[in-house]
Amino acid sequence: MDNRPTSPLSARARQKVMVVGAGIAGLSAAFRLQQSGYDVTVLERSAHVGGRMWTEEIDGFRVDTGAALLPDSYRQMRRLIRDAGLTGEVVPSGDIYGFLRDGKVHRFGTHIPLDLLTTGLLSPRSKMRLLRLAADTRRLRDRITFRDLTTAPEADESCIAYTDRRLNQELFDYLIEPLSTNYYFAPPEELSMTHVYLAASSALGTGYFNSPQGMAFLPRGLARHLDIRHNTTVLSVQENDDHVTVRHTDPTGGERQQTAAACVIAVPGPQVAGIWPDLPAPMGAFLSRLRYSTCLHVSFGLTTRPPETSMWIFVPRREHPGGLGLCLDHNRAPGRAPDGKALITLYWPTQQSESLYDLPDQDITARALHDLDQLGLFSGLARQIEMTSVSRCRPCVPLTHPGSIAELRNGLRSLDHTSRIALAGDYYSFGSTNAALTSGEATATRLTVTLEARPAPRHTL
Ligand SMILES: Cc1cc2nc3c(=O)[nH]c(=O)nc-3n(C[C@H](O)[C@H](O)[C@H](O)COP(=O)(O)OP(=O)(O)OC[C@H]3O[C@@H](n4cnc5c(N)ncnc54)[C@H](O)[C@@H]3O)c2cc1C
Repeated sequence: MDNRPTSPLSARARQKVMVVGAGIAGLSAAFRLQQSGYDVTVLERSAHVGGRMWTEEIDGFRVDTGAALLPDSYRQMRRLIRDAGLTGEVVPSGDIYGFLRDGKVHRFGTHIPLDLLTTGLLSPRSKMRLLRLAADTRRLRDRITFRDLTTAPEADESCIAYTDRRLNQELFDYLIEPLSTNYYFAPPEELSMTHVYLAASSALGTGYFNSPQGMAFLPRGLARHLDIRHNTTVLSVQENDDHVTVRHTDPTGGERQQTAAACVIAVPGPQVAGIWPDLPAPMGAFLSRLRYSTCLHVSFGLTTRPPETSMWIFVPRREHPGGLGLCLDHNRAPGRAPDGKALITLYWPTQQSESLYDLPDQDITARALHDLDQLGLFSGLARQIEMTSVSRCRPCVPLTHPGSIAELRNGLRSLDHTSRIALAGDYYSFGSTNAALTSGEATATRLTVTLEARPAPRHTL
């Protein structure tokens, strides 16, 4: 693990930096700042790190309660894994997607172009039309990145308008809609095409990696190098001339105040304004209008493995009301189920998730079993269940609707890039662990430049 300062400590030596939030955005920022020689403390509201990148161990099964998929296109994440000494914890993982049509699963692996030639999922006419999406994605690929969505304004078109202009109804029903529902837990009617381009270029036709320890391997691995204060809720962050003041609760419920040279706020977008009263108005407008999806998912630990080889099955609205996502976790990544056993997770998109969210777990589980039964993919599943787990995710992932890229651009322009307060989160790009991580690293770099130019006087820290 290389966690040594990357340059002479000079003025930065032991300056204190606080990070609010121990999700992957905050942990990445904290790790990189600490590597640069700062004295970093992470304040985290909950009792564990990771936020939406977490794993629960239940009766021998490993349930990833938030993020689940790590495509090889997550280059920034691979680099951070290496720098944190965690390379030995990841292995190549399952990469076969299935799309359900008329009760049959059509499978695609890393060689999607070849699979498309032979698949019965799409008509020959749709396959030809799909070349247009491939060409558009290729053209925009270098500008729609995990770092920044704002450099391809022409991509900010509604999925419906794009389908009318370039695709057809079949591609909408069996590709665009299931991709939206499964990656963003939201219907394509609410999303900008930017999402689809990024999903197509970063998550389809690529390999995947994962850790047998579950998705929590990375937050846990980073946290081992950091000073994390749990059960600590930040109430406000205020910038003064030569320092920042952070007001927070402590684990006993008392209120405290600390000063630092700088602070990173790494909480979900809509929560930022509540912590940072002086957040510039255009960025505040973008974040307050930003909607996140909601996702409710139910995992079933089974005594035997079904023959299905996909790691994930997209269930379009045409096949099931509202659409669904089905993860075969034991095919997705090693270590999720004991040998010979299976772990299957059903994900509902936002509308269904909201309607079930506050019901007791047993009612939600009964509804999940009913939906699985209707699909008819796993016969006798109910008799094989030995573990059930319900996960509630609100917020889930940010939804870029047509027009929000322009709002993001205005918001970014309004931020003072010499401020001692900086933001990190998954709202800068395709809402994902890699976008959150990339923004955390970028924020660390930005603050390092600021603090080199404006070191905080010792008496303030
Ligand atoms: C169901 C689901 C499936 C997903 N699937 C994938 C996937 O397959 N692949 C992928 O790459 N991404 C996926 N994502 C998205 C990904 O998990 C998130 O985009 C990413 O983890 C966000 O990280 P973050 O650090 O920005 O936010 P978070 O993980 O939300 O972290 C924010 C942290 O801040 C803390 N906090 C909040 N307020 C305060 C406060 N006032 N004081 C102190 N601490 C505070 C929170 O407790 C939390 O720990 C999925 C998400 C969900 C929910």
